[in-house]
Amino acid sequence: MNKIKVLPPEVYMRIAAGEVVERPSNVVKELIENSIDALSTEITIEIVSSGRKLIRITDNGSGMTKEDLLLAVKPHTTSKIEKFEDIYNLSTLGFRGEALASIANVSKLTIVSKIGQEPVGHQIVVHGGEVISIKECSSNKGTTVEVKDLFYNTPARLKFLKSGYTEKIHVVRIIEEYAIVYPDISFKFYSDNDLVFSTEATSNLIHRLKDVIKKDVINNLIYFEHKQDKFFVYGFITPIEFSQVNKSLQMFYVNKRPVTSRILSQVLYDVYRDALPTGRHPVGIIFINLPYEFVDVNVHPTKRVVKFKDEDYIYETLKSLIKKVIKDYYTKQQRTDTD
Ligand code: ADP
Ligand code: MG
Repeated sequence: MNKIKVLPPEVYMRIAAGEVVERPSNVVKELIENSIDALSTEITIEIVSSGRKLIRITDNGSGMTKEDLLLAVKPHTTSKIEKFEDIYNLSTLGFRGEALASIANVSKLTIVSKIGQEPVGHQIVVHGGEVISIKECSSNKGTTVEVKDLFYNTPARLKFLKSGYTEKIHVVRIIEEYAIVYPDISFKFYSDNDLVFSTEATSNLIHRLKDVIKKDVINNLIYFEHKQDKFFVYGFITPIEFSQVNKSLQMFYVNKRPVTSRILSQVLYDVYRDALPTGRHPVGIIFINLPYEFVDVNVHPTKRVVKFKDEDYIYETLKSLIKKVIKDYYTKQQRTDTD
């Protein structure tokens, strides 16, 4: 039943290394990814003091055995890849086997987990990377990860945190990003015990977007899609009038992974350039699905930066697609205006 293995050095040496836990939202991101990879359908996120005091994520996913728990908090341990080449055919968000270990090192971590078939679950407690205890406990199927006193043993990192307000904004952003690309998962988010955000599972992307995005923008989204062989891109833009004061409505996804992408954002600015008032930013929610071997996710440890094998193709295809969508929209507008 155990699924987690230690990666051999020749594998982990080739995986993008570096610190991924710099602020509470990084922890939330890694834990949400783990819950999604465990095929959860319900994920609850709770934070106290913007995540400095407590981050708790509860899921109803596949869970872990006692042996899995003991391995999961160690470095280079994962159930998602076995050999390096597996990252070219990756259907999970995680693969580095580093997140739980990194989080365990800088917090007081408790994980309670139970796999479906077992009568009882297990609880592991790890403080500053050291396993304090592991014992049986009653639990629902799935996993609860509780991260207390983040950076309690690394004051330098604690000092780098921004105000509670800013850290909370980052957490909210992460949850929204995943909520949009996984509408079939129900997300709940509590901050200091107040329910901030709750979404029902839905198969309808627009329903989910309504939970996350401002109403005036929602009502003016223009859908587009394009399919060519195994390349499928779809998403939403808005007419230029609905450009924003910041980039918060530029959201890019590659194979269901939220990413930052210079290429994709460049497409938007290049399409809207002439008409965009200074200080305004285009809206673009873009989902790209393409065969795993056409995109490298092993560029940066946070996995937020991906590298397309053929960047020019992506840029040109999207640019002409979005240009056409915008042009068609305004032509139609003109027609209805003159009718
Ligand atoms: P990675 O996700 O890169 O494999 P992590 O350190 O994030 O590395 O997690 C280590 C392993 O622990 C995962 O591969 C997975 O098998 C297991 N795991 C972590 N979180 C969960 C969870 N919420 N439910 C089930 N298994 C989990
Ligand atoms: Mg992970």
